[in-house]
Amino acid sequence: MFICENVTDEGDVEGEKSEDDKKSFIKIPKTLKRDLYFFDITKKIAESQNDRFGYKFAAMIVHRHKVISVGTNLEKTHPFAARFGRNQDSTFWHAETHAIYNAYKNGIDDSIFSKSTMYVVRLKLKNNKGQKHQILGLSKPCKGCMNCINFFGIKKIVYSIDQDKYGYGFDIIECK
Ligand SMILES: [Zn+2]
Repeated sequence: MFICENVTDEGDVEGEKSEDDKKSFIKIPKTLKRDLYFFDITKKIAESQNDRFGYKFAAMIVHRHKVISVGTNLEKTHPFAARFGRNQDSTFWHAETHAIYNAYKNGIDDSIFSKSTMYVVRLKLKNNKGQKHQILGLSKPCKGCMNCINFFGIKKIVYSIDQDKYGYGFDIIECK
């Protein structure tokens, strides 16, 4: 689990922090920095969605440093979404299946999927003293989406975790 509040940047100047401060922080390796960068973009896409259900979802597929496709939860059914649904009644687009379909439709094949990372963000809408604000919620892909991710051979998944429980951050699944 990667919690952003507990980390510091690699480029920190020595001597700015006391030894005690330094001990409580860890440095971010380059791959995590890249994940954080694309995770934040995925979060921005989620923020731009309508909140019909009290939450918002977005998924993004990245190959090396290039965004291949994005997807969102939609109130629309599709045979592809139904094929990779959680169960028989699950025929609406999930952000993950939507992103994979959008990439597939544009000619992305296994050779690219197998070197790609999928970012998934769920935002929960919280009411705080009459003011609505959005915080990260758990977005671990459901069974149907995991089938789809494995079928197309995506290498890695970075998904949001409950912010009110753990802080601002994500978890990672390395797919086989
Ligand atoms: Zn799903």
